[in-house]
Amino acid sequence: MTADETPVRVFVPGPFRQGLDYLPHAAGPAPAGARVEAPLGRRKVVAIVDGTSSGAGIAPDRLRPLTRIIDTEPLIPEAMMNLLRWASGYYHHPAGDVCLTALPALLRQGHPAARRVERVWRLTPTGAQLDTDALMQRASRQARILRALDRPGWTAQGEMPAGDGLAGVLARLLEHGWVEARDRPRMPRIGRGADGPALTEAQREAVAAVPGGAGFSATLLEGVTGSGKTEIYLALARRAVESGRQVLVLVPEIGLTPQLVDRFFERLSVSIAVLHSGLTDAERLDGWLAARAGDARVILGTRSAIFTPMPDLGLIIVDEEHDGSFKQQDGFRYSARDLAVRRAQQAGVPILLGTATPSLETLNNALQGRYHHVRLSQRVGRAGQPVVRLLDVRSRPLREGLSRPLLEQAAQHLEQGGQVLMFLNRRGFAPALLCHDCGWQMPCRHCDSAMTLHAGGQRLCCHHCGAQRPPPAQCERCGSRSLIALGEGTERIAAALRSEFPDVPMARFDRDSTARKGALAQLLTQVRSKALRLLVGTQMIAKGHDFPDLSLVGVVNADGGLFSTDFRAIERMAQLVTQVAGRAGRDRRRGEVIIQTHHPGHPLLQLLVSEGYGRFARALLEERKQAGLPPFGSLALLQAEARQPRAPDAFLQAASTAADRLLVPQGRLRVELWGPAPAPLERRAGRTRAHLLLRADSRSELQRFLRAWLPEVDGLSEGRRVRWALDVDPQDLT
Ligand code: ADP
Ligand code: ZN
Ligand code: ZN
Repeated sequence: MTADETPVRVFVPGPFRQGLDYLPHAAGPAPAGARVEAPLGRRKVVAIVDGTSSGAGIAPDRLRPLTRIIDTEPLIPEAMMNLLRWASGYYHHPAGDVCLTALPALLRQGHPAARRVERVWRLTPTGAQLDTDALMQRASRQARILRALDRPGWTAQGEMPAGDGLAGVLARLLEHGWVEARDRPRMPRIGRGADGPALTEAQREAVAAVPGGAGFSATLLEGVTGSGKTEIYLALARRAVESGRQVLVLVPEIGLTPQLVDRFFERLSVSIAVLHSGLTDAERLDGWLAARAGDARVILGTRSAIFTPMPDLGLIIVDEEHDGSFKQQDGFRYSARDLAVRRAQQAGVPILLGTATPSLETLNNALQGRYHHVRLSQRVGRAGQPVVRLLDVRSRPLREGLSRPLLEQAAQHLEQGGQVLMFLNRRGFAPALLCHDCGWQMPCRHCDSAMTLHAGGQRLCCHHCGAQRPPPAQCERCGSRSLIALGEGTERIAAALRSEFPDVPMARFDRDSTARKGALAQLLTQVRSKALRLLVGTQMIAKGHDFPDLSLVGVVNADGGLFSTDFRAIERMAQLVTQVAGRAGRDRRRGEVIIQTHHPGHPLLQLLVSEGYGRFARALLEERKQAGLPPFGSLALLQAEARQPRAPDAFLQAASTAADRLLVPQGRLRVELWGPAPAPLERRAGRTRAHLLLRADSRSELQRFLRAWLPEVDGLSEGRRVRWALDVDPQDLT
């Protein structure tokens, strides 16, 4: 065997925990991080070179050669490969899938790693000397374009004055020899670099608290809504780009907060690439490659932007770090926030985690001194914190879920010129269709859940599998015709408010009403111009928006989170209520928040209302500590589902037996198994689902156990009859 034939380890897609060995391609070796085409069974797949050879394993004469080298240089830089290898180990997800998840779709499919080109233009020396005033008389369009080009550097067509026949005008200018053109890779847009407000003293202190130099540090910025966190991000980002570094900003959902993106473009004078799910594949590829080439200095993106290569990374910012959307819920189940901390560590750069409502994990890290902790308890400017109170609705008459006192308050605020928001985190008309005679509820045929009424009661939809059908005319159990819509969704609240306040312009904000592209942005503009006075919405409206004239927020129902089987439900409820309360009274008027509840005596709810999220979260941390739940103790969830109803349980039983075999002789490994048990939503989309939850006192203990256990689970014959997955640090236990 010559050196050229040393087997090369390659990460292929599929269930392979490690890389597979191949013989190099005849054309020579491919570097680590490059894409190659590898034969796999009868297929050829796009795979990533790991670089090391496993050394052990199959004799070279039984290995197959790679069939193509796609990239001659590393597509995924070494630093990112290290993060991906680490993530594959920590989340126990196959390295091939991890690497391919990290790539834009086109690269995953083997598309060349090349940006689209754009044609750019500039004046020639002759063109620069022309008298455009004179030209204006006879050829005004040409003159206008020449003026637009009278600036340093090259100008793309999109930056020139719009108008018909631009291409023709440019062609004529080119003929005259007044302009020249070339093609270059598409560049991300450059921000305006306008000055912002002078920072307050509290903001300056916060900026100073984030170490600017080299070296890893993590900082929690715990600042109430409206305390000026975004200004702090902007100041830190500016400091980093001015010293020649790139900045990665992760945000929950860009579609919901167009204002944040606008603010970055307004205030920074560098190229900014925005990466989110609304882009075309080609746009996403351009942005990713521009970041990798250093042509984008700021990357602003959602979850998967964590995998963007950035050669000069100098700072990571995670906005709304508590947000659930940072966790991927299927396939490679990673937390972008946690990977961001890891990435900052590996790159030796600071990371800032900002939020008004920190997750208990991050809060605990700050309280334990692992993270710096910066707190902002005051809003910027004159606006004070909104006044929050509970409204006991027990035994009060409710009109479609709304109590008289809440409606009266709404009337008062509207009369005084304020805007009113009613918040309910449930879309549709009513969450169930109930038989008044026998209590039957229309179930989904494929799931263990009731169907939600939509379209004012004209359509039934399942929120778990998407099934739809018209409502039945009579009960399918007793035949009665008295079927009633039970409970409220945003549609029903909106209908009630429309009849209560017929003259007040109102809009609903939920996934149904904003499905059309651009619909949400249009509605938000109408809120700011006060064309809309009354708003009804789900969490879509709860986050990030700045509504200066909103003076009353009504939380229609906060009780859902109080008694859930999911231990995180109450944390999420408090975060949502606090975020939505933060929309009130941000500017001119003092805000008021009214929370309707049937449990006014609930101690944590009272604490939230009287002392705020910070004290609430610290009390909840104490409860988690007693129970050994995260962040005290680590969890992993083994999930299985199948059409065959008994298969998931059989698989999990076998997995559990394998775990006992490991745990009993090693008594020191303290991992508890909870289950197997049916999942809280036992049937979804026609499949039966079951869970096995694992808990250990520490991350490292859980990890050691998983490393020993999973190879055994992989080998279980029962596993072939189910779909199964492991979720490390699960967020969703349903
Ligand atoms: P957060 O991100 O904490 O919700 P923002 O940064 O959006 O807070 O600030 C809230 C409001 O206060 C915004 O309208 C912002 O323009 C304004 N603001 C923030 N900092 C200052 C400042 N130093 N001077 C004047 N206005 C400010
Ligand atoms: Zn009935
Ligand atoms: Zn369903």
